[in-house]
Amino acid sequence: SSSKLENAQAILKDVFGFDSFRSTQQGIIESVLEHNNTLAIMPTGGGKSLCYQIPAIVFDGLTVVISPLISLMQDQVRQLVELDISAGVLNSSLSSDEYQNNLVSLKNGEIKLLFLAPETALQPNILSLLQSIHVACIAIDEAHCISEWGHEFRPEYRQLDQLVSRFPDAVTVALTATATPRVREDIKRQLNISNESEFIASFDRPNLYLEVAPKESAYAQTKTFIDKHAKQSGIIYCQSRSGVDDLTTKLKQDGYSVLPYHAGLNNQKRASNQEKFVRDDVDIIVATIAFGMGINKPDVRYVVHYDLPKNIESYYQQIGRAGRDGDDADCLLLFGYGDTGKIRFFIDQMNNEHEKRLATMHLNQMLALAETEECRRLPLLQYFGESEVSETCVKCDNCLSDDKQKSDLTVPAQKFLS
Ligand code: ADP
Ligand code: MG
Ligand code: ZN
Repeated sequence: SSSKLENAQAILKDVFGFDSFRSTQQGIIESVLEHNNTLAIMPTGGGKSLCYQIPAIVFDGLTVVISPLISLMQDQVRQLVELDISAGVLNSSLSSDEYQNNLVSLKNGEIKLLFLAPETALQPNILSLLQSIHVACIAIDEAHCISEWGHEFRPEYRQLDQLVSRFPDAVTVALTATATPRVREDIKRQLNISNESEFIASFDRPNLYLEVAPKESAYAQTKTFIDKHAKQSGIIYCQSRSGVDDLTTKLKQDGYSVLPYHAGLNNQKRASNQEKFVRDDVDIIVATIAFGMGINKPDVRYVVHYDLPKNIESYYQQIGRAGRDGDDADCLLLFGYGDTGKIRFFIDQMNNEHEKRLATMHLNQMLALAETEECRRLPLLQYFGESEVSETCVKCDNCLSDDKQKSDLTVPAQKFLS
């Protein structure tokens, strides 16, 4: 097994160009290479893809990767092909020629990683095709979709046990960024994963500076903040589409390089705005929560929450889009009781008592983070089940002790802190 690990390390360096594994990656990859069904829980941007890509390269035979979104699959295939790794998809976005070509390559064993949506993988013709070739590994990305306790349950994911049971010799690896204990138990039970083969990475993102400021003259504060990051890439999240449109218009009038993103724009517009942001043709994206899933832009230097997020899950996912390259990034949350009132009003309209209780609980967790005088990381990491926080945090407004650093903050933030 040590030679397998050496092999994995060589692939990390030679194929992907990285010097070392991140903390939990190594354990996960070892476990998969040992043929243990494995559950990997790592935050977004933590590096889950390598945890199946490297075993896929080591194994003889095919690795099937289940993924919920066509855009996610296409991004990955493109990146792998650039690295000279043979990867392909079978889905409805392909022309019939492309589809046929991929089928032929598969049958000839020329594809190492095949990306499939769960409903495609379960089609009888695809299942029998896969049974005619050697499937070494089944990777289930976004595995929280399996669980009704998760926030994105998908019925097709629930049937993946049928896929897994067809290939008793293949090892399964499930990956997710959602760590609630119930979801974890559910995934392990359905996919036959033992507790020893569960790996949970820390959710701390030490390179993100977390700041909360009272929401007074929000627009002026936002401009001051953006000006500290002139020419850098940033995302500003608003609660509503009209909020996005208004803020985009104002910023544009004031000369900023900015585009909007929300579900009210047509697909083409959304795709082109996103593309311009990724290619650095525009500095700032103002967006609703619709923006971000599957975007791989490593050098986002700041995220502003213009409105209060509904829960820590969304806050964490959204700030997590900053600083993926590991360099410092700034996260500013503008916090006002008006927003709290709006969310409460929304919750009051809910009919389902259970949903109401959940939404209230989630809001209270978010408020605890916004209102705490202790380290901001405490409520954040406690949400993900971590009880210990590094004592050396200097990366949040509350932990900043020395006055020089405080004087760099915006005036309203100083008022808030004093
Ligand atoms: P996730 O799926 O967990 O959100 P990804 O697999 O997309 O994360 O990885 C996020 C980024 O981290 C990618 O740009 C990836 O290349 C990079 N990355 C992953 N592992 C390492 C590593 N060991 N060293 C350096 N960069 C890494
Ligand atoms: Mg991923
Ligand atoms: Zn702190």
